[in-house]
Amino acid sequence: MNTTITPTKKGTNWLHEMDFIGMHAVPFLAFFTHVTAFDWILCAVLYVVRMFFVTGGYHRYFSHRSYKTSRFFQFILACGAQSSFQKGVLWWAANHRVHHKHSDTPEDPHSAKIYGFWHAHIGWIMDKEHKETRYDLIKDMKHKELFWLNKYHFVPL
Ligand SMILES: [Zn+2]
Repeated sequence: MNTTITPTKKGTNWLHEMDFIGMHAVPFLAFFTHVTAFDWILCAVLYVVRMFFVTGGYHRYFSHRSYKTSRFFQFILACGAQSSFQKGVLWWAANHRVHHKHSDTPEDPHSAKIYGFWHAHIGWIMDKEHKETRYDLIKDMKHKELFWLNKYHFVPL
């Protein structure tokens, strides 16, 4: 039985994504500047803190609603998650809900099985096909500050 699936991703608008690419390229300047031990420690600490906000914020709270918290801490979670520059929490949550609903099918925005490792890791964030926030998938999110943060997702960074 032939189970070949044709990917439907639309590709990347590289010019539109220069902020995202630039943010990831900036750390390479460390090779051309003086970097201290404090800088490396700060880098490691920020990595761990942002990973907490990505997994505890984007993923467990906004996508899966795995726990409840105050409106204030929800805002802190959103700002912390968005400081990783993976777009707005509402956009991220909607895409992640699609991922779980259609895992490893062409509708899955970040299936490594269908689109490959790089697309699953970072390409899905820049993919034109998933550019707009699917508000129909996040009707449980009502607070206006989240919609503002989602629109201006670059602000926390
Ligand atoms: Zn999940």
